[in-house]
Amino acid sequence: MEKRVHDTIFVGGRWVTPVTGRVISIVSPATEEVIGQVPDCGADDVGRAVAAARAASDWSQVDPSERASVMDRFADEIDRIAGDLDTLVSSEMGMPITLSRMANSVVASTLLRYYAGLARSLQWEETRAGAMGATVVRQEAVGVVGIIVPWNFPISLLFMKLPAALAAGCTTVIKPSPETALSAYMIAEAAAAAGVPEGVINIVTGGVEAGQALVEHVAVDKIAFTGSTAVGRTIAARCGELLKPVTLELGGKSAGIVCEDADLFASAEQFVASTLVNTGQTCYASTRVLAPRSRYTETVEAITAIVASLRVGDPLDADTHLGPLVTERQRDRVEGYIAAGRSAGARITTGGVRPPDAARGWFIAPTVFADVDNTMTIAREEIFGPVLSVIAYDDIDNAIAIANDSEFGLAGTVWTADEQRALDIARRIKTGTFGINGYLLDLWAPFGGVKSSGLGRELGPEGLSAYLHSKSIYQPGSL
Ligand code: NAD
Repeated sequence: MEKRVHDTIFVGGRWVTPVTGRVISIVSPATEEVIGQVPDCGADDVGRAVAAARAASDWSQVDPSERASVMDRFADEIDRIAGDLDTLVSSEMGMPITLSRMANSVVASTLLRYYAGLARSLQWEETRAGAMGATVVRQEAVGVVGIIVPWNFPISLLFMKLPAALAAGCTTVIKPSPETALSAYMIAEAAAAAGVPEGVINIVTGGVEAGQALVEHVAVDKIAFTGSTAVGRTIAARCGELLKPVTLELGGKSAGIVCEDADLFASAEQFVASTLVNTGQTCYASTRVLAPRSRYTETVEAITAIVASLRVGDPLDADTHLGPLVTERQRDRVEGYIAAGRSAGARITTGGVRPPDAARGWFIAPTVFADVDNTMTIAREEIFGPVLSVIAYDDIDNAIAIANDSEFGLAGTVWTADEQRALDIARRIKTGTFGINGYLLDLWAPFGGVKSSGLGRELGPEGLSAYLHSKSIYQPGSL
């Protein structure tokens, strides 16, 4: 792949040279080769982008149907570059290409069109008969939104925010993750080609410093963040002090409850998609698998057989199930958790090592731990790698108690032939989302977490509300 070197950032509809001279190298996790370079921006560059976003605030006054037309054109541009964009994400962070084709460009264009539709149909202003007279209730854009996203699903996580913000009439400054900054340039190019007015979308590359500058900036009216719980907590604390609205999509440690009547082999593909998708680097993965004690041995064997059959390798190969981990640091972290599981007395039934045939790249064999207790570190902390922990339960009440015994509450799954029972269990899990016999995120429905998994919701009409303030205009005595 030809090296992509960017020495400008996208501000006010133009490619401008950043103040900073620092750069970030983007390294392929599969080959360990440098595949690109972007500026590592600081507060000055963030400031310029925020000023451009503020100067473009007329976007909120544009007729919503016109905003929607711009968004539709943006979606068309994303569709046009879909193949290249999906391949680039796989190259920069190691997502298997078959997943990338389902989880990047198509999510972006679908959500742009969806929120364009909501912009057209929303009742932006209504007159209500109030207690003291008529009141006009208006929906107004929150203002300038700072969007900070991680590397694991760089495009879909960005577009779980950007289209709703655009539909609401907000202008944006986006800070992609350093690991996946190359694909953000393709988004900027698509926005420019679609004729998104200058300043409505600005993209500033960088790391912690740029992210902090965005949170701190007085002219940023809201922060939309997806990332780790630790960073989310510091951003929430700072936004609290600044009284700045913030939505947070954070970590998870979800439980997949395997009922006695479940046949995992009947839905092996769904099982893998719910537990190990994106090489386990997925916030909603059900990485704690709860198995009935009466069928524990055979459930562990079934899971082990499924996981051991997965192909680990080149993310650009369509036959690959699992790619490398995103960085060497991430692989070290995952190996640390594997060591912690071993020393706590959990038993590895498959994996636990680097694949012997991978000469380069940050690969790790998908790993299953049996005999896991829910108090062990591997059952409590988010590993963010291809590591499953199988925990025994006595009865369904016990399974639900174990599932809920977690700091997190983002997702979860249940595996059973009895749909009614599945719904009953789903209602009792303290979580923002849940899947029955699989987990496929519904782009039309609200997504988000409870407890340490986050604040607020994205997607669906609720996702649009997060970028709107309501204003009440009282007309006393007018009734
Ligand atoms: P991270 O929190 O380290 O970084 C996320 C983003 O925040 C990056 O762009 C980073 O540069 C920036 N950042 C880091 N420190 C910052 C600070 N102090 N102020 C402002 N910005 C800062 O997370 P990561 O390692 O890139 O991503 C993995 C994490 O994201 C996992 O914990 C995962 O569960 C979580 N995640 C959550 C969801 C969800 O929807 N709930 C989805 C995907 C990933």
